[in-house]
Amino acid sequence: MSKNNIAQNITIALAGNPNSGKTTIFNSITGTRQKVGNWPGVTVAKKEGTIERRGHSIKLVDLPGTYSLTPFSIEEIVARDYIITQAPDIVISIIDSSNLERSLYLATQIRELECKVLFALNMADLAETRGIKIDAEKMSELLDVPIVFTVGNKGKGIEDLLNAAIDLAISNDTEPGIRNVKYTKDIEDSIASLKTALAETTETNLPISDRWVAIKLLEDDSDVKEKIITAKGGNPDKVLEEAAKLRQFIKNRYDEDPQIVMTDERYGFIAGIVKEVMTSTTKQRIDFSRNIDLVLTNRFWGFPIFIFFIWAMFQLTFTLGEIPMGWLESLVSWVSFVFETILPDGLLKELIVDGAIAGVGSIIVFLPNILILFFCIALFEDTGYMARAAFLMDRIMHLIGLHGKSFIPMLMGFGCSVPAIMAARSLESEKDRILTILITPFMSCSARLPVYIVLAGTFFASKAGSVIFGIYLFGIILSILFGRLFRTVLLPGEDAPFVMELPPYRVPMAKSLMIHMWDRSKMFLKKMGKIILIGSIIVWGLSAFPRHIEYSTDYDAKIAQINTDFDEKIKTSDDKEFITLKNEMLNRIIEIDKLKSAEKAEKSYMGRLGKFIEPVFEPIGIDWRGSVALLTGFFAKEIVISTMGVLYAVEENDEPDALKHALKESNMTPLSAMAMMVFVLLYVPCLATVGTIMKEASVKWAIFSAVFTTLTAWGAAFVVFQGGRLFGLG
Ligand code: GDP
Ligand code: MG
Repeated sequence: MSKNNIAQNITIALAGNPNSGKTTIFNSITGTRQKVGNWPGVTVAKKEGTIERRGHSIKLVDLPGTYSLTPFSIEEIVARDYIITQAPDIVISIIDSSNLERSLYLATQIRELECKVLFALNMADLAETRGIKIDAEKMSELLDVPIVFTVGNKGKGIEDLLNAAIDLAISNDTEPGIRNVKYTKDIEDSIASLKTALAETTETNLPISDRWVAIKLLEDDSDVKEKIITAKGGNPDKVLEEAAKLRQFIKNRYDEDPQIVMTDERYGFIAGIVKEVMTSTTKQRIDFSRNIDLVLTNRFWGFPIFIFFIWAMFQLTFTLGEIPMGWLESLVSWVSFVFETILPDGLLKELIVDGAIAGVGSIIVFLPNILILFFCIALFEDTGYMARAAFLMDRIMHLIGLHGKSFIPMLMGFGCSVPAIMAARSLESEKDRILTILITPFMSCSARLPVYIVLAGTFFASKAGSVIFGIYLFGIILSILFGRLFRTVLLPGEDAPFVMELPPYRVPMAKSLMIHMWDRSKMFLKKMGKIILIGSIIVWGLSAFPRHIEYSTDYDAKIAQINTDFDEKIKTSDDKEFITLKNEMLNRIIEIDKLKSAEKAEKSYMGRLGKFIEPVFEPIGIDWRGSVALLTGFFAKEIVISTMGVLYAVEENDEPDALKHALKESNMTPLSAMAMMVFVLLYVPCLATVGTIMKEASVKWAIFSAVFTTLTAWGAAFVVFQGGRLFGLG
């Protein structure tokens, strides 16, 4: 039996800003059948009228005009109380189309009440003469709300509005407002824990959603607090206590009252909607944020500016980071020297100096670079630019069939894939989420940066910054191509619509920048303490064993020979010759020593492993040392560099650029370095990332991700290396 045929009593409340045309629409619908009185207890005029339509008896109520639902004025209290306590079947939110942003502020608050809402875009005529176009279809889709255009004073659209209201009232659509304002994680978490507290401790008789009550408690809404206290049963004190605690937490985090933080976010949400659905041909009054947005999200300039910012970020990371990197390098050599001196010769000393200190030391020197990178990302987030970047990327993301919002996890991927993949949770559609998770690892994470810094720094010297930028760009382009491919082949479907929030631009607070930067860098340091330390020791172990190696030549005898040879000469030399001879002797011994270390590395377990897998990497220009390094990179990409340090027998810890020198002398060329960087960019994300994909998606997707990234990496590196050789670059 369809509900549609049953006659119902439907109550419709009209809400809106003063002068939005509520009374005009009310009059137009009810005609003469209206009662005029006062709202109980206050001298605010109340108009009510009842009509018959489609067999239903429809009661209309004209609510007082308000700009928000914060209970500051009598009108606001009356309007809000009516919706909360009388629970009308439908609230028609009358929107002044010529003043969209201001009207939406109230309208989104009404939607937060989670009652059935319908938007009337009134003053459609005024909007038109002012050159404002509103894409109602898109807005309806974004907010999941039915929308009707009306011109109240001409009676246009009123019938449609009434019909839409009746349809909505008799529909079984009981889940309004899933696409509503989403607050930042801290606030959403607070809302969630308050909701739990509410469910556990009170039996409120408020016919409104717990979410709304939780939001209001966080805003310290005295009226809602009062209602909690007077509600029957339960333990309201506990809820209020919890709310006070959470408010304090938010206050500490943001240095602002929760109301202000949440209001800002609502405005961000609204700015996002307005930006997406409204086009204006005439100049309007423009505020500060919109002024900046005219430039930064400009159709022509926005994108180049965005690219410039990202480029500048990498320049900064690379050039500025070099200075403290030098200091850290000296510190590491000093620590290494100290242990070298105080420890007795033997396995333990090797383990500590060549394993732990060399491994962790070769990575920790990149801490400044990583701090700068995270600082820049925090800066983008806190100024509000990150949201614009997502907005700019929206058009490109649509090429993949994703919304610009997917770009935020991808941007975070520049820091670390693990939180980035977790950030994809914010996407509503499962397919969007998987697709985002699959392409996020192509966003070059900060762990790969050390590899680029060493390789680009060695082989591309002054152009290193631009080369690294190019690598990052290549990752982005590939992610787009693969996104498109996966969208078509693996995960066909439409992207779910949602509102991109455009928070106002803000001068970032130093404290919050530091917290954001530190929160993420901490992850880097933790990784250093665990995975990298263990990985380095394993790598060292593989290279230090077996202890006894059959050398092809007796290096020690050769060295002894040199010693005796020179001893003869030195004895008969004069003072001047003495120094030259001594130097020559030393150089020859070092030469032999290097050959010995090289053979030792080659014959170690590590070397055998490298030789074994070398054929796989040969076509992409990587020798056995690089091959093992890449293999160990699966623990964590940072280890690639420390493994190379071990394999190139960089033992002179007192020389910071030792690895660079060794690489220059090796048979690596700029072309093979480029191929290696491309491979590092693309191949299997580290252990932690694969684990995260397993948790966030499934084992199947984790395996898929590991396999397809590695195959892609090999293919791309092959093209770079062999292609480069064809053009005579190698
Ligand atoms: P209320 O304060 O929300 O009740 O607004 P009113 O219904 O009193 O309307 C305010 C003014 O706007 C009146 O002069 C109406 O004639 C005018 N008005 C209402 N709807 C429209 C419309 O769609 N277009 C135009 N141009 N004027 C309208
Ligand atoms: Mg009125």
